[in-house]
Amino acid sequence: MSYFVVSDNCNGCLSCVENCPANALSYEDADGKRTILHNMARCVRCANCWRVCPQEAIQFQHFLENRWDAVIQLGLVYCSVCGEPLYTAAQEKTLSGNMGRPLEHLCPKHKSADFAARQALFLKKKQSNRETQHDRR
Ligand code: SF4
Ligand code: SF4
Repeated sequence: MSYFVVSDNCNGCLSCVENCPANALSYEDADGKRTILHNMARCVRCANCWRVCPQEAIQFQHFLENRWDAVIQLGLVYCSVCGEPLYTAAQEKTLSGNMGRPLEHLCPKHKSADFAARQALFLKKKQSNRETQHDRR
């Protein structure tokens, strides 16, 4: 990924390199080729290179586009009830490894609903057991 984009119009004159006030541009001549180098950490986006380029080869708008570049893409795991994204599959692997058990695919809302339903079922069973014991007496 580079923000310093140069078109095929570039003829390697080095005006941009010589006129960069921040030493953000450099070049290398090797193996029969000239390579123009740009260092984003030094660049102050002054546009001097763009102004001095006799070939109008520097596409300065790339510096100013305020783009979001995708750095990485990971598969998601969703809540099995409502489909809300929970975590990435890779994160699940880490978490379940740390916890030593597989994770339930439930969002906080459905996790508590599931817990409440299980608790209600447990209480109902307990009540019915009590009633059975009482009937036997
Ligand atoms: S924008 Fe300015 S600092 Fe950045 S490379 Fe061009 S001349 Fe150098
Ligand atoms: S000033 Fe323009 S033509 Fe000259 S090396 Fe830089 S980008 Fe290429």
